[in-house]
Amino acid sequence: TAVQPSDAAGSTQEVLQRVFGYDAFRAGQREIIEHLVGGGDALVLMPTGGGKSLCYQIPALVRRGTGVVISPLIALMQDQVDALRALGVRAGFLNSTQDSGERRATEGAFLAGELDLLYLAPERLRVEATVRLFDRGEISLFAIDEAHCVAQWGHDFRPDYLLLSMLHERWPAVPRVALTATATPETHREITARLGLAGAHHHVADFDRPNIQYRIVAKKEPKAQLLDLLRTEHTGDAGIVYCLSRASVEKIAEFLVGQGIPALPYHAGLDARVRAENQARFLREDGIVMVATIAFGMGIDKPDVRFVAHLDLPKSVEGYYQETGRAGRDGLPSTAWLAYGLQDVVQQRRLIDSSPGDAAHRRRLGTHLDAMLALCETVECRRVGLLAYFGQRGAPPCGNCDTCLTPPESWDGTVAAQKLLSAVLRLDRERHQRFGAGHIIDILLGRRTPRVEQQQHDGLTVFGVGADLRELEWRGVVRQLLAQGLLAVQGEHGTLALTPSSADVLRGDRAVALRREPERPARSSVRAER
Ligand code: ADP
Ligand code: ZN
Repeated sequence: TAVQPSDAAGSTQEVLQRVFGYDAFRAGQREIIEHLVGGGDALVLMPTGGGKSLCYQIPALVRRGTGVVISPLIALMQDQVDALRALGVRAGFLNSTQDSGERRATEGAFLAGELDLLYLAPERLRVEATVRLFDRGEISLFAIDEAHCVAQWGHDFRPDYLLLSMLHERWPAVPRVALTATATPETHREITARLGLAGAHHHVADFDRPNIQYRIVAKKEPKAQLLDLLRTEHTGDAGIVYCLSRASVEKIAEFLVGQGIPALPYHAGLDARVRAENQARFLREDGIVMVATIAFGMGIDKPDVRFVAHLDLPKSVEGYYQETGRAGRDGLPSTAWLAYGLQDVVQQRRLIDSSPGDAAHRRRLGTHLDAMLALCETVECRRVGLLAYFGQRGAPPCGNCDTCLTPPESWDGTVAAQKLLSAVLRLDRERHQRFGAGHIIDILLGRRTPRVEQQQHDGLTVFGVGADLRELEWRGVVRQLLAQGLLAVQGEHGTLALTPSSADVLRGDRAVALRREPERPARSSVRAER
């Protein structure tokens, strides 16, 4: 190779200390940096907070020319550039938020060789002027941040990322580094293929975040459950509460404030000024609880977030991992807590059914949701499940997740499943009717509700056959059958339907093991989930 390893090591180490003020590289950084300094390509899969930025920033400083960083996070560019400038690094950015004067000034600095780093939104590559600009300047490397955006399989595909295959075609001598915190084997393969990185140095970091305690609980009374978590374990701590909708963000933030907890809302519907202000307070002040949609958090570098709570089910394991990964960047014990219920599954299925895009796209979304449900309903270590999803197999149980700490009993739910599935089957086959979980459970419990009487469902043979379980337990059965693909939920009203696998259970060819919810001491009266 062209690099003198000792020289490169010396200068990169020196830059690490002089510019960034750090004593030592973190795992993987040195190898990646030296490989790039030597002119090679790299693909870096490293969890959020792992230290990806230095992997391209240091080579950009060591090599001649400007490091061009492609990033979809336009809103963060100003901050990133400001932070670099504060360290004495010559940085600039080009994106659609600038006026032409600012853009020309940045382009001038680039052409004069006065920029170490240039941040660029991917759509700028559509513009021929950008390509000409690159031809006239000197580029030390291309860094492709959030590289999973190139993967159609993934959860965050951006068509403009497909333009990035041109980088290597037009400037074959410029080394490239693609970086992402998403590391499923599928995404890894797709990034490699689309960006032509088969010959690159692949760094796949350990994705385990041992200081994060993963807990997933059944959603009963979400506000009370959240309050309980904050009061008993996280008094005065900074944290993030994720909600699916803007309305629930507002509602929960208001609720927490009413309970004396300093909470702020964040979602895309808020005024940009309010959003910026709330984000700044979260970063600057101690103990703020940010109640947010997933619009919040990308690129937020706050080390002491002590908990991330989800009040709604994330759409994918990738999303869950990224969002929970914002907790405990400082390495201190932190909590990732998720409350999820049947309603979440119904809601997510509805979103998928009505999502734009073709059938293949909807199928992909369905697969993502199924994996998330499987993680929720597993009787095994959550961390083992999470890591296996990212291709890290064979980890031992972690001892620091809810299923390790309070092993859920599993029970033979075959008969219960048969009762439930046959109720669904009878209504469907005999009366061509489909109903949501609530009504089916009423039938199983033998409840003569107005609807049951009106439909004369008290005359069904399955009426009352499920009185041995409580409503809460039936909801658990439905959830887990959904997670195991033995039941499906459909349409606007979340009606239940059989799947091809349901027949195996009904015939008695397949046993169904279910997870019994560990009974937690109830602080507040536990009402049925709504
Ligand atoms: P990522 O992009 O992978 O999410 P960052 O590059 O933002 O992570 O790094 C996360 C934090 O770790 C930042 O505050 C960064 O300054 C810090 N960091 C990165 N590398 C080192 C290192 N070698 N020593 C100490 N701190 C580091
Ligand atoms: Zn565990």
